[in-house]
Amino acid sequence: MKGIQMVDLKGQYHKIKSEVDKAILDVIEQTAFIQGPQVKQFSDALQNHLGVKHVIPCANGTDALQIAMMALDLQPGDEVITTSYTYVATCEVIALLQLVPVFIEVLPDTFTMDPSAIEAAITEKTKAIVPVHLYGQCADMEEILAVAKKHNLFVIEDTAQAIGAEYTFSDGTKGQAGCMGHIGTTSFFPSKNLGCYGDGGAMFTNDDALAEQLRMVANHGQKVKYHHDIVGVNSRLDTIQAAVLLCKLPHLNEYSDARRAVADAYDQAFAQHPHLKIPVRNSKSTHVFHQYTLTCQGIDRDALQKFLQEKGVPTMIYYPLPVHKQAGYRNAKFAPGSLANSENLCQNVISLPIHTEMTEEVLQYIIQSVLSFF
Ligand SMILES: *Cc1c(COP(=O)(O)O)cnc(C)c1O
Repeated sequence: MKGIQMVDLKGQYHKIKSEVDKAILDVIEQTAFIQGPQVKQFSDALQNHLGVKHVIPCANGTDALQIAMMALDLQPGDEVITTSYTYVATCEVIALLQLVPVFIEVLPDTFTMDPSAIEAAITEKTKAIVPVHLYGQCADMEEILAVAKKHNLFVIEDTAQAIGAEYTFSDGTKGQAGCMGHIGTTSFFPSKNLGCYGDGGAMFTNDDALAEQLRMVANHGQKVKYHHDIVGVNSRLDTIQAAVLLCKLPHLNEYSDARRAVADAYDQAFAQHPHLKIPVRNSKSTHVFHQYTLTCQGIDRDALQKFLQEKGVPTMIYYPLPVHKQAGYRNAKFAPGSLANSENLCQNVISLPIHTEMTEEVLQYIIQSVLSFF
């Protein structure tokens, strides 16, 4: 079978083409390329969708993390606890701001931060915890928020992969991914679950003062034009991207459903397999399946990937190396071998195609191809 893709952005576009084309042309016609009305319209719409008090748009998901840490006034030398099994952006901004990343383990079942490892990592320099809602489901927020509260730490949720996931606390109350900690950050990179047609990102918060601080940092450190109270950055969501996102947001729930349907089919096909472990769903979180990631058991993962490639089935390794083993991030405190779960996962995970436009025919072909390896 030809032309199978990890993500089918073209098919998704064609379903809403006339609407999106018009929205983009409208922006061009208005020539309101920077901070046009669609930017505010989109942040208002996303606020309503998530039920969060403030959505502050910015240029990308990496900026969102950086602006969050700047807005919390974290200072060089402050320690930030996060996971090494993540996309590098999470740790990059920590290092860039001369903060100290302190890596802890992920749970090998759900791939998210092991909350029981947090306390041992806390020192008097610790200021924040950054859980990553990896692959589309929430980390164990109840436990993470409890430790953070006990030690007076900020929580920044990296929600780049999990917009739309919902977490249920043990008292029955619900929280949206990104809206439970002090600040949540997300990315609208094209292949993310709510993707635009270029770069984009946003921060979420329920705290009015923090919202003001986030806006100020993202806007050259100014509240009043040409009056720069602090050192900020320039990070804006383009109006054209906001216009695209306004068209796509009403479809986000159906996009999540479509991804979940693919995941359900994969689960069913591989659940009993002796050499494949399906991704474990956290019973407290819904899963929006940014990625569908299998863990290989007792087989050569790279041989499986090569075999699938020859059959025309693309796969990805998210992530081949944990951050603490990356050349730019090596640190004596986190020697190779020190985070065994994270390192094992990097050697054994494989992500299958998952997107909103998967046909039954392609899905069955992928499943049969995987099974025929054995
Ligand atoms: C994509 C991603 C980011 C960064 O988003 P960009 O918009 O590409 O800067 C950050 N964290 C995680 C976990 C991501 O997947």
